[in-house]
Amino acid sequence: MDLRTARRVVFAGFGLMCICIVICGATKLDLFAYVGIGIGAATMIFWVIFGRCPECRKFIRRSSSKVCPNCGKPIDWKGSKKEEEKKEEAI
Ligand SMILES: [Zn+2]
Repeated sequence: MDLRTARRVVFAGFGLMCICIVICGATKLDLFAYVGIGIGAATMIFWVIFGRCPECRKFIRRSSSKVCPNCGKPIDWKGSKKEEEKKEEAI
């Protein structure tokens, strides 16, 4: 799993969780709160599994950190370098 894709899924998951909580507040239905908590928990588990440093495979914790807290290697969130390398290889 690409780290960028993983982060996108995490953002989408937390977005869905917020929407569920808002719907819960609007409708007063507990069901949406449970669904929201479920999505939030699933997103956390997903992040723990896939939010890992590509160098040392340790858990990064924060999706905003620019370097790995374990090995100090810079984390390439944009993936522009790799894409550029691929383009160069193609040529
Ligand atoms: Zn690392």
